[in-house]
Amino acid sequence: MVVSVAPVAAALAFFVARREIAPQWAALALAIGLVAGGLAVVACDRWIARRAERLEAMADALGRRQLPSHLVSGRGDAIARAEARLLAAADAMVDALGALEAEREEFEAILRGMSEAVVVTGARGEVVMINGAARRVFGLAAETDYRGRDFIELCRDPRLQNFVGRVTDSALGEALTGEIQIQSPAARHLEVSAAPVRQAGGGAAARVMVFHDISRLKAFETARSDFIANLTHELRTPLSAIRGYAETLMDGVDDPEVQRRFLTIIERQSRRLARLIDDLVSLSDLERGLSPLKLESFAPRRLLEESAELMREQARQRGVALEVRSAPELPAVSGDADRLHQVILNLLDNAVKYTPRGGSVTLEARAAAANGGARPAGIELAVTDTGEGIPPADIPRLTERFYRVDRARSRELGGTGLGLAIVKHIVQLHHGSLKIESRLREGTTVTVWLPAAP
Ligand code: ADP
Repeated sequence: MVVSVAPVAAALAFFVARREIAPQWAALALAIGLVAGGLAVVACDRWIARRAERLEAMADALGRRQLPSHLVSGRGDAIARAEARLLAAADAMVDALGALEAEREEFEAILRGMSEAVVVTGARGEVVMINGAARRVFGLAAETDYRGRDFIELCRDPRLQNFVGRVTDSALGEALTGEIQIQSPAARHLEVSAAPVRQAGGGAAARVMVFHDISRLKAFETARSDFIANLTHELRTPLSAIRGYAETLMDGVDDPEVQRRFLTIIERQSRRLARLIDDLVSLSDLERGLSPLKLESFAPRRLLEESAELMREQARQRGVALEVRSAPELPAVSGDADRLHQVILNLLDNAVKYTPRGGSVTLEARAAAANGGARPAGIELAVTDTGEGIPPADIPRLTERFYRVDRARSRELGGTGLGLAIVKHIVQLHHGSLKIESRLREGTTVTVWLPAAP
């Protein structure tokens, strides 16, 4: 203001000096000029302050990712127009940011919900994102923020470290796939793939690693090939015996006693084959749900007595005492009587087979009261023998197909190795449970629990 008034003041001083204007008029003109200039400066200041306030409010709104369009002034001067354009551009940016945020949240929700473990690493191998499944597979804490950490340092298993190292060292643009078996933090079989993520400019910015846990699939594959190997073996043994003795007979055996012995072996082996095939069909029907249960409500006592009756002769021949004990008041059971019959016969058959002469087998039925919320009321069918017993390490595996403690002995006694697998399936179909307890050289108790009929 002083600068703008100075020339006017100098001109007035010049005219006053030449006495062309009276000094008082010159002073008055200067005072009016000073007041008007001051008012103009104050108005200008206020105007600038208002604009500055609006710009700050706009910056605040942008900081909060809010649309600042409500701040547009209605006036049409050049600065207001520029402000309006700036605000419109800011609005568009806030909208785009909101859409990006929503997309990111959607993407993160998808990643969180994925059953596959997903890890995104940056160009140097640092963690950019790691989903919940990956945290579980690699034993990482659910809450810790691992972003920026070197992923290779978070892997505990050397084979996994090796794979991640190869991914980080591989040429950009190269996708890697493979299968690895890790031991730490838990034994798992993983199918892995790592692919680069391309930026809009074309350069690979990061890598996405996807780990698919195929442990169960591998376990199924192993179980299937074990089953086929076992089955082949089980079929081949009686078949080779049948063929061998048949060929010898065809070559001519004069002694009728030897002939009879060979024919007996052939007959016994063919019976064994038939038993094996029956058990296989039974098991396969049960597993594939092809033989649905024919449910009826019946008294367990009848089931016990009929089964024991069928086993009496076999027990007598082997010199094993067979006793049936049944509590007087047993709840009725809802089940498939034929299938449950098969269960008890299998258990009695094992007990008689694996108990030496002079021993005893007891079949007992008792009521089992409800066990809090864990188990409703039901009955327990227990087969106890005084036989050779089972080593503790073998007990958990007895219900696997073809699992035997002593393979040769089971075969010699006519076993197929499928009996307990069938028992387990039938019991499970009845929503029951199976418990095997044994002491070596003292005996075994197999208990089947079945829920009472509603
Ligand atoms: P198997 O046809 O060989 O008897 P199972 O599936 O019925 O097949 O039984 C599996 C294995 O469990 C048997 O080979 C035997 O080693 C063991 N086992 C089952 N029951 C008894 C028992 N009561 N006493 C001792 N061992 C038993």
